[in-house]
Amino acid sequence: KPVVAIVGRPNVGKSTIFNRIVGERVAIVEDMPGVTRDRLYSHGEWLDRDFNVIDTGGIELADEPLLNQMREQAELAIEEADVIVFIVNGREGITSADQEVAKILFRSKKPVVLGVNKVDNPDMHDLLYEFYSLGIGNPYPISGSHGLGLGDLLDEVLKHFPEKADDDYDPDTIRISLIGRPNVGKSSLVNAMLGEDRVIVSNIPGTTRDAIDTSFTRDDQDYVLIDTAGMRKRGKVYESTEKYSVLRSLKAIERSNVVLVVINAEEGIIEQDKKIAGYAHEAGRAIIIVVNKWDAIERDDKTMQRFEQKIRDEFLFLSYAPILFTSAKTKQRLQHVLPTVKRVSQNHNLRVPTNVLNDLIMDAVAMNPTPTDKGKRLRINYVTQVAVEPPAFVFFVNEPELLHFSYERFLENRLRATFEFEGTPIKIIARKKN
Ligand code: GDP
Repeated sequence: KPVVAIVGRPNVGKSTIFNRIVGERVAIVEDMPGVTRDRLYSHGEWLDRDFNVIDTGGIELADEPLLNQMREQAELAIEEADVIVFIVNGREGITSADQEVAKILFRSKKPVVLGVNKVDNPDMHDLLYEFYSLGIGNPYPISGSHGLGLGDLLDEVLKHFPEKADDDYDPDTIRISLIGRPNVGKSSLVNAMLGEDRVIVSNIPGTTRDAIDTSFTRDDQDYVLIDTAGMRKRGKVYESTEKYSVLRSLKAIERSNVVLVVINAEEGIIEQDKKIAGYAHEAGRAIIIVVNKWDAIERDDKTMQRFEQKIRDEFLFLSYAPILFTSAKTKQRLQHVLPTVKRVSQNHNLRVPTNVLNDLIMDAVAMNPTPTDKGKRLRINYVTQVAVEPPAFVFFVNEPELLHFSYERFLENRLRATFEFEGTPIKIIARKKN
């Protein structure tokens, strides 16, 4: 999906505009664990296009002087976005920080759309003229607080999107991303697994310019490692900010089928790991937990078991994810990684025949009667699988509200006990039909 970044000085109204663009969807996103709660990154839609929006204001480095912050924002936007929306304040006119940002954006040659905010009515359009002098094209009058002018601005943004192009990988290719904070050993794992086998390093049209994927084949299966470029780049200021790496991770998760959540055995699990894993879960990706640097900790015969228990306790929502203990350094158990990826990917794509599914659910109901509420009993009439990646099941029932969480859990457990769903989330959806 194309990426739109919103850049501008503090208090010009970036977040208001961000919220307008992402609209009601924020409510849904906000329910997700952690990361997106601060509305740094979300989905937008306009006409027939889907895109991601970044509010670079969320990435402000707190104790930096304004000009430095602005440079960081602009650089992040240049790095990440297909189109940059530069917001200025129509009532305040051009400031030196605006000029500075305009200069950086202009040099980058990225498409920039200039939004002049706080222009709340047409009488104020005279305010626009001075903004031509920024040298980045037509100023679009907008009012974030009144929701005015955004349509025209978005029309202009869409004109600069790359042609609709999904990653053009063969659908049988398994796309893997390695997620985890810096220094857990992601690059080392990739290097240790692939060695000299790296076949192609490709630039993918329609994605952020510098997303570099690595494709390779192992045992007749094609794989792509998503955006390993992000792992290689080091040393820039924003790399060190936590939010930046989250952003990178979210984008990689979005483009992958299987997510490897990499944890450093020496440091254990931190909040950040949970947030990102939560996002992968919500996004319906197949997930494997990889505990790396296993060579570096003192072990006895109980260590692995204890570690596993800790992970299970911390990642309750990932009870389906296999856990691998690896060392990129000694190559310990690295040979299990790709076969596990392949297995969970197959599970992610599993289709259960409808008759088998219905027999199973009828047996389950006989074993554990459906819940009742106010004298009414849930009746499951028919079940059908409607999707894969992840497998999703629609339950046609008399009253959808009667399918309580605990019973849904029970049904999910029955499905998992019967079919091979290791590594994949599954979705259960209740629909009313008598
Ligand atoms: P990334 O930021 O997640 O890509 O992490 P790197 O792959 O760059 O690794 C960070 C540091 O950890 C480097 O110094 C690696 O040599 C070291 N490292 C990576 N994997 C292992 C491992 O399995 N065992 C040990 N002892 N060190 C590791």
